[in-house]
Amino acid sequence: MTKILSEKQLTGHDDSHITWLDERTGIHQQALSAWIAMSEEAKSAGLDLKIASGYRGFDRQLTIWNRKFSGQLPIKNQQGEILNIEVMTEQEIINAILYFSALPGASRHHWGCDIDIYAANLLPANQKLQLEPWEFAADGPFYLLSQWLAKNACRFDFYLPYDKFRGGVAIEPWHLSYWPIAQYGEKRLTLNCIEAVILKAEISGKNEIMRQLSKIYQNYIQNIGSIHYG
Ligand SMILES: [Zn+2]
Repeated sequence: MTKILSEKQLTGHDDSHITWLDERTGIHQQALSAWIAMSEEAKSAGLDLKIASGYRGFDRQLTIWNRKFSGQLPIKNQQGEILNIEVMTEQEIINAILYFSALPGASRHHWGCDIDIYAANLLPANQKLQLEPWEFAADGPFYLLSQWLAKNACRFDFYLPYDKFRGGVAIEPWHLSYWPIAQYGEKRLTLNCIEAVILKAEISGKNEIMRQLSKIYQNYIQNIGSIHYG
């Protein structure tokens, strides 16, 4: 039997575990049937579930990281304001990026069992999908989806690792994780494993990342919610 996630798949360097639903959207082969079953049940509850972002490889995450670090992509703070990175230390920039974007090699989207979802039929016609917390809050368009997920996702072995802010990654009420695979990823993605990947990468802020790596590992990678049934 093949492994659920190989070392390369864990860090986004191999996508052979992925089934592609369309050109951009991939999901771990062994999470597909649970996703379909959950989507069908959601449909009968009036929710048309869609994946906004599924599998993401290392290079794509690296591009996001480097563009944010250099200022080509804006970095926002917790209030949604754009930060002026000119006046920030490298350490501050790294922490600000990590609030919204994973360290390349340590994104759960590499695993393919983690997906960002929304309900297409709840998105107002004149509104673009943002994937921001207000959309899933009590007066946002996806509140019904949030409520449905809180009650039903665990029946399909999905849960929300970023269900609330824990001092590391921001709340992400759209980010679902399929536990039978994710538990394996969480166990196997060690600090050593990430260190080896960062050392080899052309990543901006590398020296400072390496200095902070064990803190980053604790605060942004391990500091997450877990599945609770019932
Ligand atoms: Zn996500």
